[in-house]
Amino acid sequence: MQKDIAQYPFVETGGLLLGRQDGDTLTVYQMVDGGQTYAKREKASFCYDYGYVQQQTDKICAWYKPEIGVIGVWHKHNCIGGDRPFSDADEIIHMQLLQKAEQSVLSILFESDKNTSACQMRTFVLQTDFNHICVEAEIIE
Ligand SMILES: [Zn+2]
Repeated sequence: MQKDIAQYPFVETGGLLLGRQDGDTLTVYQMVDGGQTYAKREKASFCYDYGYVQQQTDKICAWYKPEIGVIGVWHKHNCIGGDRPFSDADEIIHMQLLQKAEQSVLSILFESDKNTSACQMRTFVLQTDFNHICVEAEIIE
């Protein structure tokens, strides 16, 4: 994620989080970047290269026995937001993810401040009732 963020300092970027849910614990094992060819990275929006993301996800999930799955998303904003920093487009993606996963999912948000070049990371657990809880998260990869 850090590499991808460093590569795109002035536009949004992001990808998927792959891992497993074990009881109440969501563990991230791998991440998928947003791809290149059909990805759209703009100052205040980001869209994946869906074909690439799907292909990478299938490939990486199959490395694990039992297989891991999509347990969240990560992306970067170019400003520091408040308590509820997600855009409508972000929330649509969250909703789709929750519907597919039928369990809590993670949304990791990097917020970079171009004036200070500081970048903060916040992890939100999105619950199935669409509550967002900001938590600390452990990332293995
Ligand atoms: Zn966003």
